[in-house]
Amino acid sequence: MSKPTMAKCTICGNKLVELFLNKVKGTVIKKEGSGKQYHVCFECQKKHASKEELLKAIK
Ligand SMILES: [Zn+2]
Repeated sequence: MSKPTMAKCTICGNKLVELFLNKVKGTVIKKEGSGKQYHVCFECQKKHASKEELLKAIK
């Protein structure tokens, strides 16, 4: 059995809660060009309507 990943929200630092196996409450934002991935929790996702807004908050 593998350990569940404790992904953290890039914006607020909260740990993303795993509701079900392999299901994380949040989303992964991919930054164009850099290939970097950022985890964003559901709450922060709600606060920032678009992907562009999220990337601005991350920066
Ligand atoms: Zn967050």
